[in-house]
Formats: sequence, structure tokens, C-alpha cells
Amino acid sequence: MIKMNRIDKKMNKIDLHLHTDCSDGRLSPLQLLDLCYQRGYRTISITDHDTIDGFLTVKEKAKEYGIDIIPGLEISSYHKGAEIHILAYHYDYENSELLGLLEYINESRIDRARKIIDKLQSIGFSIDFDEIFESVGSSGIIGRTHIAREIMKTETNLTVNEIFDRYLNENSNLYVPKITVSVKDTIPIIKDSGGISVLAHPHRLRRNGILDDIIAYGIDGIEVYCPKTPNYLQNMYLHKANENKLLVTGGSDFHCEPHEEADFGSFSVPESCLKYLNSFNQKTSDQEGDEYGQSNRFNRYQP
Ligand code: AMP
Ligand code: MN
Ligand code: MN
Ligand code: MN
Repeated sequence: MIKMNRIDKKMNKIDLHLHTDCSDGRLSPLQLLDLCYQRGYRTISITDHDTIDGFLTVKEKAKEYGIDIIPGLEISSYHKGAEIHILAYHYDYENSELLGLLEYINESRIDRARKIIDKLQSIGFSIDFDEIFESVGSSGIIGRTHIAREIMKTETNLTVNEIFDRYLNENSNLYVPKITVSVKDTIPIIKDSGGISVLAHPHRLRRNGILDDIIAYGIDGIEVYCPKTPNYLQNMYLHKANENKLLVTGGSDFHCEPHEEADFGSFSVPESCLKYLNSFNQKTSDQEGDEYGQSNRFNRYQP
């Protein structure tokens, strides 16, 4: 169990981007919930990669902790050959199209992990798909992080970041892309599930113009407040969001990696983000069940 490092004075913190071991985080959903409680978070969203299992596991338990848990998800997608992560909030977690998309992505993750492991074996690593697959959470979501952790067992002098750079990143010749759905097609799937789409960690976009393309595809918001986003970029994204009437969110992208744990709790998303996110959701549900039995969704947050 997690040790409590300190008692936090501020007890109403918000974090809208968190991972559990249902994807590539290190904590089970319950351990994460417990840690969030200890570190003073009272509104959270579990945004695992391509699975909602972590959220479903603790959505009832969160009530006992007095934590408001917003349905969340981080969908792997692509645009112009680059991997793009789209967050989804407040979706209907029984929506078959959305669940179908997640199943599709995760089947391709297994195939891709096998290919990456084959390539690593061909350059001398004695790692094994079945062994790594046994280490993944109950959702069976396998990703590069699980492979990186296995490599670390032998390459003990390298950091995870160095392992990614050397073997797993897009610029490594061992890189294998995931088969995912384009951003253009992902955004409508989120919208059709009643959800809100948000571009995750925009500072990771490699090329100019991609942000404008994604806005043109109808993204609802931008994740502006990330601890890793430099201030000047946060200001730029805020400006972009205001200009395009997009909502603004934020989160730590916490995976409970060893270097992250002590600091977890030092970050909180401004409360205004939550107000906008929830009012957007309110507008969406207010409009449900019109004469066509369809929800009439907003493309943009209108302040
Ligand atoms: P995947 O979903 O399998 O493509 O893996 C992507 C995940 O790998 C990201 O969500 C991060 O958690 C992790 N990741 C990507 N790049 C790095 C890096 N340079 N160092 C550590 N973790 C990384
Ligand atoms: Mn991750
Ligand atoms: Mn991401
Ligand atoms: Mn993330």
C-alpha cells in the first residue's frame, strides 16, 4: 500500500488526467483512488489509454471517498502519421461504438507488441511476449511502457526515457505504430457517445499546423494545464482556446512512475476548468431526448 508522505492542507484539488494499471499506470484503480484521497484530490478523472475499466472499477467506490470521478479516457489516434492522444470526458460508458473503437485499438496493441518484441529479440534481447503479457493489468492492455519496464530489468543503467529514445520512440528504427483511428474519425465517435473531446498534452505535437487541423475537425477542448507544459506554451494554448471558443482542461498525466510519486499532489487544475467541463456536460444532457430521440450536441463550448 502507498505510504502517506504528507497531509495536504488543500483538500479540494482537481486532476483530470490519471492512469491506472488498467493501462500503463503502476497503481490499481483502488490504490490510485486512495492516493488521490490522501493527497487532497476531490475531483478526478481516470483517463487510461484506450480502456474505461479503471474508471468503471472505482466509480462507485469513489463516492465513499467523497471524490467526484468524471468518466474519462485517453484515446490513441493519429494525424498525418503522428500519434495524437485525444481525451474523452463525460461519454456514455455503454456506448457500443465507443466500446467497439477501444476493442479495435486494443486488439491491434497485442499485434504491435509482438512485432516490437520480435524486433528487440532480433537485436539480442531475451524478452518474451507471454512473460510481459502476464505483467499487464486485468484489462489486457499492453503498451510500450510494459515493454520498457521489461527492458529496464537488464538495461539497468538506462532511464525509461532513454529506453524509449533508443528502442521505442517514433524515431527509433524498431518503432512499430499502433493501428488506430484518425483524429478526424475519433472526434465524432466521442461526440456521438455524448462525450467531450480534448486534445491531450498539446506541447507534444511535433509539427506546426496540427493543432489547427484538430480544431478544424471539431475538437471541444485543449488540455492546457499540464505540469510538463512550459508556461509560455500554456499561454499560447489558452489564447488559441479562447480564440476558437474551446474549453480548457488540465491534468498531471500521472502514471505513478517512481520519480512521480513524491510530487503527486503538488498540482491542481483551476476550478474554472471544471465549471466549464461540467456546464458543457449539463448543456449536452439538457438537450437529450429531443423529438428525434437524438441528443443535439454542441460543437464548441459557448461561454
Ligand atoms: P503506447 O500507448 O504503447 O504507444 O505507449 C505510449 C505511452 O508510453 C505513453 O502514454 C507514456 O506513458 C509512455 N511514454 C511515451 N514516451 C515516453 C518516454 N519518452 N519516457 C517514458 N514514457 C514514455
Ligand atoms: Mn501512458
Ligand atoms: Mn498521452
Ligand atoms: Mn496520459
